[in-house]
Amino acid sequence: MHEASIVMSLLETVSDLCQQEGYNSIESVRLKVGKVAGILPEALLFAFDAAKSDTIANKAELIIEYVALGGFCCDCGSQFDSEERYIYACPACKSSAIKITRGDELQIIDMEVN
Ligand SMILES: [Zn+2]
Repeated sequence: MHEASIVMSLLETVSDLCQQEGYNSIESVRLKVGKVAGILPEALLFAFDAAKSDTIANKAELIIEYVALGGFCCDCGSQFDSEERYIYACPACKSSAIKITRGDELQIIDMEVN
């Protein structure tokens, strides 16, 4: 399961950071997840809750901020956001010369520690 391996490395990263800084528990972790990253937030939350019990993040809450797909068109210059998982053409002029600039993120925004 894709989400489980993401969660394992996430927990490893935040635990390491937390210990380096001399804290011993994590309250919450905020994660930015792009729509294009192909990750299901529900599955991620489920995997996080299942995996956190043996770590210093055992009481931590995972907060997911979902980033919609977005980009711009090289032909007409319009910026767009989309609720779709993929987009192949500019919504304004139908050109396929588009650049996707948002929506594939998977990064920790911040975390609360104790
Ligand atoms: Zn366009």
